[in-house]
Amino acid sequence: MPNRQDVRHNVWLSGEFAEAEGRGELSIAYQPIVDMQTRRIVGAEALMRWHHGTRGAVSPNTFIGLAEPEGLLHGPGAFAIETALDDLAIWRAASDLADGLFVSVNVSPSQLEDQGLIDGLITTLDSRGLDAGDLHLELTETAPPPGPSGTAMLNRLHGAGFHIAIDDFGTGYSSLLRVQHLPCRSLKIDRGFTTDLATSATSRAIVRSTLQLARDMGLDVVAEGIETEDQRDFLHDNGCPMGQGYLFGKPATSDDFRRAFLNGSLTP
Ligand code: C2E
Ligand code: MG
Ligand code: MG
Repeated sequence: MPNRQDVRHNVWLSGEFAEAEGRGELSIAYQPIVDMQTRRIVGAEALMRWHHGTRGAVSPNTFIGLAEPEGLLHGPGAFAIETALDDLAIWRAASDLADGLFVSVNVSPSQLEDQGLIDGLITTLDSRGLDAGDLHLELTETAPPPGPSGTAMLNRLHGAGFHIAIDDFGTGYSSLLRVQHLPCRSLKIDRGFTTDLATSATSRAIVRSTLQLARDMGLDVVAEGIETEDQRDFLHDNGCPMGQGYLFGKPATSDDFRRAFLNGSLTP
C-alpha cells in the first residue's frame, strides 16, 4: 500500500508526464529483434524513454504504469508510432539491409479505444512510403485484456494487415484465452521464462510448450530477455524463430541502432 508521500509524488510525476511530450523530454530507443537461425536483425522494438528536466531518466515501467490508468498515453503513444516509422523510413533510405525490417511498438489498451486509430496509422504509413506489415503492435499481457470495442479495433487492425503481437506472453491471467480470442500473429515469451531457463525445469517446459503451441497455431515467436549464449542455444534448439535481449543488443538511439546494427554484421 503506497503511503501519502508516495501518492503525492505519483500525482506530481503524472502531471509532469502529461507535459513531457510538449517539453521535448520523450524519445524512442530501439532494440534489435534477431532471426535465431541466421542471427540477422529482422526488426526493432521501439521503447519509450522519458528524460525529466530535474529528475533525469524515469523508468518506463514507472511512467507507463502511472500514465496508462490516467489516460495519458494517447499523445505519447502516437509520438512513439510516428517516431518509429520516421526512423524506419530513414534506415530504409540509408541501407538495403533495412529493406525487410519491421518496427514493433508497444500499444496501451486505451489507444485501442480511439476510433480514428486505423485511419491515422494508414495516413502515417502512406506519407512515409511504408505498409501496414512494416508496423508490429505489441499488446502487453500485464494490462487487462481489451474490452469489446478494443477487441473490435484489434480485429480491424488485423484485417487491415497490421501485425499484432502478444507481449509478455505467459504473465497474464488468461494467456491461452487471449491467444484464442485476439487476432494475434505472434507471441513474445516473457523475459522471466528466458531468465529461468538454466535453473527451472518448469520454465523450460513452459517455453517448449509455448513454442509448440505457436507452431500448431501458425504464430511467430520472439523470446525476450536473452542475455546468455546458453539461453540462445536452448531457444534455437527448440525452434524459437526470433529473439531479443542484451546478448544481441541493448536499446539504442536511432543513430546508434543504424550504425551498430544495420551494417551487415551478424549478432552473437
Ligand atoms: P516490454 O515491451 O516487454 O519491453 C522489453 C523490456 O525489457 C524493455 O524495458 C527492455 O529494455 C528490457 N530488456 C530487453 N532485453 C533485456 C535483457 O536481455 N535483459 C533485461 N534485464 N532487460 C531487457 P524498458 O525499455 O524499461 O520498458 C519496460 C516496459 O515499458 C516495456 O516492456 C513496455 O511494456 C513498456 N513500454 C516501453 N515503451 C512503451 C511505449 O511506447 N508504449 C507503451 N504503452 N508501453 C511502453
Ligand atoms: Mg514490448
Ligand atoms: Mg515484453
